[in-house]
Amino acid sequence: MRRISDIPRLEGEALRTATFSIGVESVPGETNSSLRRRAMQSVRRESMSNPRTWRWWFTLLWTWPMDVITLLVVLLLRVLVGHSLHWEDGIWVELKEGTWFDRLYRYEGGTIAHGGILKRGCRALPHELTHVEQIEATMLSGFILGLSAASTFWFQGVDSWVAMLVIFLIVWIPSWAVSYFSSVAQAWIRGERYLYHGSHLEESAYAQDYQRNNRPH
Ligand SMILES: [Zn+2]
Repeated sequence: MRRISDIPRLEGEALRTATFSIGVESVPGETNSSLRRRAMQSVRRESMSNPRTWRWWFTLLWTWPMDVITLLVVLLLRVLVGHSLHWEDGIWVELKEGTWFDRLYRYEGGTIAHGGILKRGCRALPHELTHVEQIEATMLSGFILGLSAASTFWFQGVDSWVAMLVIFLIVWIPSWAVSYFSSVAQAWIRGERYLYHGSHLEESAYAQDYQRNNRPH
């Protein structure tokens, strides 16, 4: 059986067989590109079932600074080296092929907060959306720890709003990066062979890729 990731490269009968295997039937007269697009949309929809309840909107309270940075970086990359923008639980820039940045950037995708970078083809998007969930949770913990640190200052009688604000921001804003790099550092401390793949955050994301596609992306 063809893998889902082969769909972008298939033509004709092979393409129809592959899309049929994931539940997308071709309609008479449909072009290959239209069928490919519908199949990939279906795969993405299925894999992107991050729930959005009214409660979810509180998430922006602890992610918004990184979301603003994400928006600026994504728009800048779109202008300089981007091919197109996508909206899927955040804003993503698909990189133009062959640019210096595309050659320099070794990964298929990269998450900043609610959004980030994707190479052409979008296969990494479901993987990156796992990181979005991780970032949401990590920034909540950073937000809570930041408030705790600031309130400790308060109870110790530190009479400086600036000091409290600074400690709050220092603990809160970089919490995702601290968490990610700590996961890599801990992989090294454990003695994992590959630091990137040894990070528990990547292990989780790749395990979910595998479960979704019956293969890692
Ligand atoms: Zn990853």
